[in-house]
Amino acid sequence: MRKMEITPNPHTVLRDIFGYSSFRGEQLNVIEALLNKQSALVLMPTGGGKSLCYQIPALLLDGITIVVSPLIALMQDQVSALKQLGVAAACLNSNMDEEAERSVLRQLSESELKLIYMAPERLLSPAMLNRLHSLEISLIAVDEAHCVSQWGHDFRPEYTRLDQLIERFPGTPRVALTATAEKHTRDDIRQHLRLQDALEFVASFDRPNLSYHMAERSGYKQALLKFLRQQHPGDAGIIYCLSRRKTDETATWLHQQGFSALPYHAGMSAADREYNQDTFINKEGVIMVATIAFGMGIDKPNVRFVVHLDLPKSIEGYYQETGRAGRDGLPATAWMMWGLQDVLTLRNFIIDSQASETVRRIEHAKLDAMVGLCETPNCRRQMLLHYFGEQLDQACGNCDRCLAPVETFDGTELAQKALSCVYRTGQSFGVAHVIDVLLGKETEKVLRFDHQQLSTFGIGAEMTVKSWRRVFRQLINKGFLLANQQRYGALQLTQSAKPVLAGLVNVLLMSEPKTPSKTSTRKSHDLPSDYDQELFDRLKALRLKLAQQQAVPPYLIFHDGTLQQMAADKPQSEEAFLALSGVGQHKLDSYGDVFMQIIDEHQTADQQL
Ligand code: ADP
Ligand code: ZN
Repeated sequence: MRKMEITPNPHTVLRDIFGYSSFRGEQLNVIEALLNKQSALVLMPTGGGKSLCYQIPALLLDGITIVVSPLIALMQDQVSALKQLGVAAACLNSNMDEEAERSVLRQLSESELKLIYMAPERLLSPAMLNRLHSLEISLIAVDEAHCVSQWGHDFRPEYTRLDQLIERFPGTPRVALTATAEKHTRDDIRQHLRLQDALEFVASFDRPNLSYHMAERSGYKQALLKFLRQQHPGDAGIIYCLSRRKTDETATWLHQQGFSALPYHAGMSAADREYNQDTFINKEGVIMVATIAFGMGIDKPNVRFVVHLDLPKSIEGYYQETGRAGRDGLPATAWMMWGLQDVLTLRNFIIDSQASETVRRIEHAKLDAMVGLCETPNCRRQMLLHYFGEQLDQACGNCDRCLAPVETFDGTELAQKALSCVYRTGQSFGVAHVIDVLLGKETEKVLRFDHQQLSTFGIGAEMTVKSWRRVFRQLINKGFLLANQQRYGALQLTQSAKPVLAGLVNVLLMSEPKTPSKTSTRKSHDLPSDYDQELFDRLKALRLKLAQQQAVPPYLIFHDGTLQQMAADKPQSEEAFLALSGVGQHKLDSYGDVFMQIIDEHQTADQQL
């Protein structure tokens, strides 16, 4: 590895090592605080660029930076990425053989490293603490800092012991980074990591390059095929399902349809899971069909879509899972299919759980908020950000509601028909039967209960089953009706149904969404200009070959965005190659010639045509 020349300021490091031209958001402020030996708490969404916040100070300060990271996959990925940039970084973890470990320990004691990544268990062993004590520690960075909090979904008890490290290095600046901005978590981080006086940097949690879509499900297969074929052919993505069975079935079915799709869930053997995860990371265009057991520790930047085939149980979960798309800042899609049955199933889980009354109440409220996001006639992004305490002044132009606005209409009469039919049938039947009565269908069940005699029999015959389901779904989600799960989903009127039946309040309903008339504005950080697709494909093939030779994921060589820019600008000099976003001096030295050769060949071939 080439010896690093420490460059004197954040801007030159950003340009020469990382190959980027400007800082994003709060990055520079965080870096300057750390360089001034102040500690910091950094809250940025996934893909916001947290790593640079400590990596650049690590390169500018004397001594070594300790990075605490919870997962081996995460640290390996980061270290490989740094090595590709010519940075002296290493990690220590339980996956390494003795020789590799000895070599890292030697580099460590000879002060050859600028960054060392470790899991807390390893870091906090007395032997390691003693070893570190004899070194010059420039900075302590705690990545995924929410792991310290029981409130989060990734609580790791070892993280709460990090105060031991901090006590050993009282004067060393610390930075804690997370993509979870929730208040309890934030407080826990401050307390456990002794960051009471630290500066706080909060970025917007908006992910402008993600396009949000939520559709009603009526048989998901055709819609999913259309989505994958039309919007994301050849792209890598994640499809989340609620159950293991659906995960397996969907993966098999997609495979039959010609996609390279693999399953991932907790019911599989560890070896199979690892194999599928490696394939997803190291190959191009693989679709992972998974339960939410999959995701944490996946740093793959070019996940182009995240699909939910079932409703997530909270907005927090939805935001986190969709956040795995588009880390590289290029356009990506969050696409969800949901139905009333999902809401009922999730309610059941909560009711059947052993959790305390309080926890259940919170879970119901979280589910209500999620359903609210699905049912909103307005901009999804505005509502999503509002939930996290942020205000977006204008509708986003990049969600299904903005792209294909839905109309609301006065649905009072429909609501009255529906509610009174529930009442007349005795509040003992599920949606399907009540709709049969409204439609005037003489089913076996209708006849058995003499429901053809009711005044509401056939009063809704002008509408389809599907339209009635939409009405019932909205009435349940608005709280006029309750589907009693102890009684097989029997519909019951709530208190708020009375004023509707009495004609005292109006009910606004949404009409069926149209297919988008506009296309998204496809916002992204560094929008690549129109590029030569054929050249892009050739560059990608070269990238894959190089990645396989080094046994690293392709994105560690170059990101998609860099290749797209390459296929647009077609650089043929070192200077032009260096100007690409994501190309620093080391990458130019390692890969400039081979990539420019492909560009040259491509140009010559073009001229001969
Ligand atoms: P996070 O850890 O916050 O999810 P990363 O640190 O992995 O995000 O950064 C996300 C992506 O954005 C990475 O590919 C990174 O190289 C890129 N990136 C970060 N900062 C910049 C910048 N200032 N200019 C261009 N790209 C950047
Ligand atoms: Zn919008």
